[in-house]
Amino acid sequence: MNTMSRANALPETPREFGFFVDGEWREAGEVYERASPGHGVAVTRIQKCSPADLDAAVAAARRAFEGGGWAGLSGAERGGVLLRAAQILRERRDEIAYWEALENGKPIAQARGEVEHCIACFEMAAGAARLLHGDSFNSLGDKLFGMVLREPIGVVGLITPWNFPFLILCERVPFILASGCTLVVKPSEVTSATTLLLADVLAEAGLPRGVYNVVTGSGRTIGQALTEHTDVDMLSFTGSTAVGRSCVHAAADSNFKKLGLELGGKNPIVVFADSDLEDAADGAAFGISFNTGQCCVSSSRLIVERSVADEFEALLAAKMARIRVGDPLDETTQVGAITTEAQNATILGFIEKGRTEGARLVAGGGPLDLGRGQYIAPTLFSGVTPDMAIARDEIFGPVLSSFRFDTVEEAVALANDTVYGLAASVWTRDIDKALTVTRKVRAGRFWVNTIMAGGPEMPMGGFKQSGWGREGGMLGVEEYTQVKSVHVELGKRTHWIA
Ligand code: NDP
Repeated sequence: MNTMSRANALPETPREFGFFVDGEWREAGEVYERASPGHGVAVTRIQKCSPADLDAAVAAARRAFEGGGWAGLSGAERGGVLLRAAQILRERRDEIAYWEALENGKPIAQARGEVEHCIACFEMAAGAARLLHGDSFNSLGDKLFGMVLREPIGVVGLITPWNFPFLILCERVPFILASGCTLVVKPSEVTSATTLLLADVLAEAGLPRGVYNVVTGSGRTIGQALTEHTDVDMLSFTGSTAVGRSCVHAAADSNFKKLGLELGGKNPIVVFADSDLEDAADGAAFGISFNTGQCCVSSSRLIVERSVADEFEALLAAKMARIRVGDPLDETTQVGAITTEAQNATILGFIEKGRTEGARLVAGGGPLDLGRGQYIAPTLFSGVTPDMAIARDEIFGPVLSSFRFDTVEEAVALANDTVYGLAASVWTRDIDKALTVTRKVRAGRFWVNTIMAGGPEMPMGGFKQSGWGREGGMLGVEEYTQVKSVHVELGKRTHWIA
């Protein structure tokens, strides 16, 4: 295996990874070669696991769970491993960011920032491992005492997407580990490298073998098999609504495994005339362009007060034109490449639909030719009506659709006019308007005069068809536990049989 020879240079040959089961690196016999979307050059080779490899991984996770070598530790001991992992991640930050930028196409500086966030997740979860507790009832009368225990749910399957391969992984793994569970991860085949690197980090941090296992391969084969596995107690899935729906069917048809689902979004950003328009335009440009808009919480529907709409769209279009789209390995790049060819085609298809359905193009509008790789200019459509595809569907690209409103009620109705409910943002100097919109718009994450801010303390998850359950914060640990009610009788029993 070669490693990077020089920071920010392409690797000389693709780096080959094994898959990781029961503390060992293994080979599947067949590999998938991943090309960097920013350069079109092969960068990694990833094992194509078989269903038997998956069975071995689940069996290892089961043994590690039942053996009690992890769940049986104190919260402080589990937290100690997570803190050591955080420290190792700090030392290996640049290496992880490098492979993330290569496989995903995101800017290297952004990738480093994401690893910093991941370190914070490990540190937060280390504390949470110690704080996790149940409840007690001293109110059941003199003779009965009640305890509510929180127990780890068991073996967790984790399927992660390609848009934030390491960040989404680390918004879940340390919390799953804090709860005492063991797990089998299936990353997206196109972005598996950093999930595999985490195996190394956790082993070095002292995680017992079999607790963290990684199988690689395509979603349709190995991912689907994980959703159907009868020895997996819970599945956490992040990705498309369509696959989320198939996870629900698979859970029902196998063993009723518990599900955590973080799915699509079509998130509104509501801008009132009294807001700081410069700030709001900066927020809107960031909200749609960050991570090339391949972001479940990206704000893809601009809902702007009519009296300032022309001025605001012009301001926003000028800002979007100044975004530095370019090579992911360039330190000054703000927006990198589109991660997959399929996603590139999907986004360009939506831009074409926007044009043919009669929306007015104000910024961007097509691919950017940077010599190699696949790039799309941040794009703004004005005059979008609720029936258009660009108004309703999750595009998952840097394409913003603009709507106008006159009253707060209209703004709320437009914001709620979607099957999704993942996130929303509102910009105003008026506290009444800010809180009215916050209360009435149905979304799991809300930002007032900011966008995509947060930390591992705050729970994340969706309303409506954006998913089930929450990740992050104490709720994010509790999700991976189940509750046992224990009733203890005190003193002599009052006999039922006279
Ligand atoms: P998918 O839902 O297909 O991919 C997400 C993850 O699920 C990947 O790890 C994938 O593996 C895996 N997967 C794919 N098919 C199955 C299956 N049948 N059973 C179990 N796991 C499976 O998303 P796409 O990559 O097709 O992207 C399509 C759209 O989904 C995007 O345009 C976007 O709208 C949305 N999306 C939303 C995300 C979010 O964060 N909410 C993240 C990614 C996509 P593999 O990649 O190896 O096939």
